[in-house]
Amino acid sequence: MVNIILTITAELENLDSLQPQGGVDDPDFSYYFKMKCMNCGEVSQKETCVSLSDTVPNPNGRGTSHLVQKCKFCSREGTVTMIPGRGKPLMLDVSESRDYAPLMLFDCRGLEPVDFAFGQGWKAISTSGTKFEDIDLSGGEYADYCEKGQIPVMISNLQAKFDAVK
Ligand SMILES: [Zn+2]
Repeated sequence: MVNIILTITAELENLDSLQPQGGVDDPDFSYYFKMKCMNCGEVSQKETCVSLSDTVPNPNGRGTSHLVQKCKFCSREGTVTMIPGRGKPLMLDVSESRDYAPLMLFDCRGLEPVDFAFGQGWKAISTSGTKFEDIDLSGGEYADYCEKGQIPVMISNLQAKFDAVK
């Protein structure tokens, strides 16, 4: 078993924070990534989608996971379980120092997530306090205008990585 944390960063222009719509532990926020088999190293062709509210029974009949997937190459089955409570919104100061903010922890058995893809369902708050909701980051960036502060807002240069934690 390996615990892997997903961390993200982005350039924020006139925005104070970026996080999933319902907060870092939003039960309906969808995470998209590919799976790499820890046995043979094969990476899945298609992206997998997981969310906290969506669980499946474990192959051994005990408990549940958020993903059970069989490697197409070596047929080894693996599971991924999401562990909430570890994420933080990406704040402006973290973004400015080019640091990453933790988003979600994954307990991985036999499979590890790779290639996180930014999708829909993000929320950002401008430096003037305006909330921007249901932001779609699948295009790689986002731009809008804050009426209250009369300033343009923008999210760009999205980066994500998975790191093993001990
Ligand atoms: Zn495999």
